Amino acid sequence: MKNLADKNVFLTGASRGIGRAIAVEAAKEGASLALFDLQAEWLADTAAACTAAGAPKVSVHACDVSKSASVNAAIEAALAAHGSCHGLVNNAGITRDGLLMRMSDDDIDAVLDVNLKGAFYFVRAVVRSMAKAREGAIVNIASVVGIMGNAGQSNYSASKAGLIGFTKSVAKEFGARGVRCNAVAPGFVETAMTAQLPAAAREAMLRNVPLGRPAGPDDIAPVVTFLLSPRAGYVTGQVLAVDGGMT
Ligand code: NAP
Repeated sequence: MKNLADKNVFLTGASRGIGRAIAVEAAKEGASLALFDLQAEWLADTAAACTAAGAPKVSVHACDVSKSASVNAAIEAALAAHGSCHGLVNNAGITRDGLLMRMSDDDIDAVLDVNLKGAFYFVRAVVRSMAKAREGAIVNIASVVGIMGNAGQSNYSASKAGLIGFTKSVAKEFGARGVRCNAVAPGFVETAMTAQLPAAAREAMLRNVPLGRPAGPDDIAPVVTFLLSPRAGYVTGQVLAVDGGMT
């Protein structure tokens, strides 16, 4: 029996990296998927991989998670396509790293708007349908730096710490309606987001990983699909670090 059979999973930032891996893993577990990214064409490759992995239905939606009107319109289209939403993964995220004294207003706003406010907009748009059905599982992709902090990433760390507070609050506000909400906090994952890091920063980071290697997106995805599935039916309000032991 597949763990996400008959479930509709909505997933942001699905065109590449961790989001793409979660989409394919959810498809292998039998989920139908609504995929969201800035442009629908960028989702074609992920959508094809999900269909090949066994997803009964896949839809793609252009959506800027940082704009509530864009989120509401995309969710309306996804609910019309799938009928309901059982699982939501807020994965879309950006970095605008720099020392605080040199950080522009735009660097602060852009990171908080995508990483934190995007999750507010998505949860607000789907939670009514989850609560009505007395069933829903939300997973927010946070980061270990939301727990530990990181020099040069005050905007990003604050957005991820905020996401953790948001996760615990949603868990409390909607638990009685059958909606669970958890966060996954990845450590160092090899994706486009980390590809730009200078070699010295990368080596310093890896020295703090007891397992001695960076994660790949496929290390993160099965943890997310577990939390989405009924197998995690008594888990809510938690932050699960998937970080090779870093924290
Ligand atoms: P990535 O390869 O840069 O992918 C990020 C995804 O988010 C892309 O598909 C991107 O779309 C999408 N996105 C960005 N802004 C968006 C917006 N305004 N609206 C809709 N979609 C948007 O990054 P990743 O490493 O897979 O990261 C995925 C998540 O994991 C992020 O939340 C990140 O903070 C978190 N995380 C990553 C690491 C790591 O080491 N990589 C560690 C901890 C946590 P485009 O293709 O259109 O740009």
